[in-house]
Amino acid sequence: MIIDGKALAADVEVETAQRVKKLAERAIVPGLATVLVGENPASQMYIRLKHSACTRVGIRSENVMLPENSSVEETITKIQELNDRPDINGILLQLPLPKGQSPQRAMMSILPEKDVDGFHPVNMGALLLGAERLVPCTPRGIIYALERLGKKLEGAEAVIVGHSNVVGKPLAAMLLSRNATVQVCHVFTRDLADHTRDAEILVVAAGVPALIKKEMVRPGAIVFDVGINRVGDKTVGDVDYEAVKDIASAITPVPGGVGPLTVAMLLTQTVLATESQAR
Ligand code: NAD
Repeated sequence: MIIDGKALAADVEVETAQRVKKLAERAIVPGLATVLVGENPASQMYIRLKHSACTRVGIRSENVMLPENSSVEETITKIQELNDRPDINGILLQLPLPKGQSPQRAMMSILPEKDVDGFHPVNMGALLLGAERLVPCTPRGIIYALERLGKKLEGAEAVIVGHSNVVGKPLAAMLLSRNATVQVCHVFTRDLADHTRDAEILVVAAGVPALIKKEMVRPGAIVFDVGINRVGDKTVGDVDYEAVKDIASAITPVPGGVGPLTVAMLLTQTVLATESQAR
């Protein structure tokens, strides 16, 4: 089975649009601000995708553009202005920042209740303690897809390849909270296949094309390919899709799998943030 991320995202949009309507009855319109520093073309494309998704569900959105050579202080000043605005419920700092700029300080300046990407230490800390508030969008999308597949997570063997703050670590925490048994692998893992072959649920977020071959996958596994890699003029994931789709019970394609779900979860989180601010 191919996990159709676009179809799942469309369902999330319908549900989100209904919640936006409910808020409108109280004269509340959710507002999202994105902050883009520099002119990275991939980031510009992601920002466009996010804003058009907002428009489809009735979230008001605006993009703040800062020049490539902005200092972290200038980015923080912008974010603080957005923190102070009651019409802005969610703030997203598009990563990566231009070369040499660490995102940590800028990210920490976003108010935790407006941190719709879920990267602020307060939200990450809450996640680790099992209290999911605003959480990173990609892991949230994967959990959503697993729920829609009806996969029982309690006791399930889950293996994550990649231990980034954006995907691997928060997803591990979310799966543990649901009582899955979780292995997290990374570039220093000695025998990757030895781990991946255990996986009933295999999530790959490494950024290495065709890292996961057929013989590394347990027959019947559910496979989430998070990777986005340009190979020639094609976008591919981290999984040898053509070979692995024959033994997996379900697999996400690239493109059209995890990507659209990630964008959809940003909408969910913006509405969640708005609802909780309204309370
Ligand atoms: P990252 O780029 O920060 O880190 C890569 C991770 O993969 C590290 O944990 C590293 O140790 C591990 N790794 C690298 N090479 C490996 C190897 N040969 N064997 C085992 N592990 C290896 O991680 P990220 O930011 O989570 O991004 C990973 C990929 O996912 C990238 O291609 C990125 O573009 C993509 N991504 C996609 C989405 C989406 O919405 N679809 C969201 C976030 C990231």
